[in-house]
Amino acid sequence: MYDGKNKTEVIVVGAGPAGISGAITLARAGKKVVLIERGMFAGSKNVFGGAIYTVPTKEIFPDFETEAPLERRNIEHNFMILGKSDATTISYRKDENVSYSVIRGKFDRWAAEQAKKEGVVLVEQTVVRELLKENNRVIGVKTELEEYYSDIVVLADGVNSLLAK
Ligand SMILES: Cc1cc2nc3c(=O)[nH]c(=O)nc-3n(C[C@H](O)[C@H](O)[C@H](O)COP(=O)(O)OP(=O)(O)OC[C@H]3O[C@@H](n4cnc5c(N)ncnc54)[C@H](O)[C@@H]3O)c2cc1C
Repeated sequence: MYDGKNKTEVIVVGAGPAGISGAITLARAGKKVVLIERGMFAGSKNVFGGAIYTVPTKEIFPDFETEAPLERRNIEHNFMILGKSDATTISYRKDENVSYSVIRGKFDRWAAEQAKKEGVVLVEQTVVRELLKENNRVIGVKTELEEYYSDIVVLADGVNSLLAK
């Protein structure tokens, strides 16, 4: 089945926070990594509530507070417990290790650029359709256009991963 072309050490499917972080970590460990994202660019298909947290983000991007596209520093947090007809709010303020609000279309795109600087090959606008298997073992992925082979395939295509199913 494998024709000797398009072979790498690791394929990561999905350039969200998990895929980008995984790809960078593997690249830093010396692995050849191809990161495949179906969107026009990393973050183009993603929305979320808006806050990223400093401590885990720094593990991957130590200088993100000065380099990444951040919207706002969040120093106050409010949690509201709702009753049937009333509500109780608990607030706290914190100046260190705060969170930042970001727009995924900007932040993920920046993060994917950092992955490229670490040697990750980013392939965008490419949907992984299925996993390639040989002797009941995953040996790569099939996209709309091509087949890519690798020693390891990491699925980081989100919580509703069709590929995992
Ligand atoms: C309403 C809401 C609000 C949230 N608010 C926050 C918040 O404020 N802070 C926070 O930290 N978290 C928040 N989260 C959670 C956060 O969105 C997830 O934890 C995070 O996005 C998970 O990252 P991921 O990389 O696993 O997956 P995703 O971010 O889902 O990334 C998966 C990537 O894989 C790509 N992909 C999928 N299938 C394929 C395929 N077949 N081929 C190629 N590419 C593929 C997608 O295009 C996508 O880019 C929120 C979630 C929701 C739903």
